[in-house]
Amino acid sequence: MSSIEIIPCLSDNYAYIIKDDQTNKNILVDAPEHAPIERYLDENAMSLDFILITHHHGDHIDGINHLKLKYTPKIIGAKRDKHRLPPLDIEVEEGTELSIGSKKFDIYDVDGHTLGHIAYSLLDDRALFTGDSLMVMGCGRLFEGTPDDMWKSLKKLKGLPKDIMIYSGHEYTKSNIEFALSVDPENEKLTARRTKELERLQRGIPTVPSTLREELDTNPFLRESDPLIADHLDMTNLDPISRFAKIRALKDNF
Ligand code: ZN
Ligand code: FE
Repeated sequence: MSSIEIIPCLSDNYAYIIKDDQTNKNILVDAPEHAPIERYLDENAMSLDFILITHHHGDHIDGINHLKLKYTPKIIGAKRDKHRLPPLDIEVEEGTELSIGSKKFDIYDVDGHTLGHIAYSLLDDRALFTGDSLMVMGCGRLFEGTPDDMWKSLKKLKGLPKDIMIYSGHEYTKSNIEFALSVDPENEKLTARRTKELERLQRGIPTVPSTLREELDTNPFLRESDPLIADHLDMTNLDPISRFAKIRALKDNF
């Protein structure tokens, strides 16, 4: 097992530090900015051995330069996206089995938010790092990919073990809950979750990680084929990808 530390960054980003207890290696997922990560590492007298990048946006990579100079970690990211990522020491692609320390990561292409976005799973630890693909009750905005791309990406993640924990790149839960309720108002699991998550937020506790099971029950972007949602949005005649596209468009204008 390993422990995973949540490091809040910028106004609503999360970075994660995976501590590999067996080898004492520390692995960072995304570097939105360096200061909070550096503070955490130094306060705990920790090394930084690897950085995993999910995608090229500044709020996921801007801290890398500084951290690389100070701690000399190996930088890992998508081969497909290397033209716009910081220099990579290890290039990965879907299907790569990435072994670092005692940990084995699987890599998934999750196009949609960007093209070249990847997610990393640690199946032994039941953890999935999704960046801006699958989020707590939401998914990333479609800046580069099509609804079809994101739908396929989410479908891939849906097939992972239901108890896997989702570590996403942002704290967007407050607005995601309200949107989810607007398209899925009769979902009792969703109303119950709203109460739970709002209480966490009020106490300043991150809403990550969530479980895939919770997302399947309450995340509208995984539920386009749910009869209640399809009926509520008057889209029972549409195919699943068109339904997904409609939900995504509604969120963009919410
Ligand atoms: Zn992004
Ligand atoms: Fe982001």
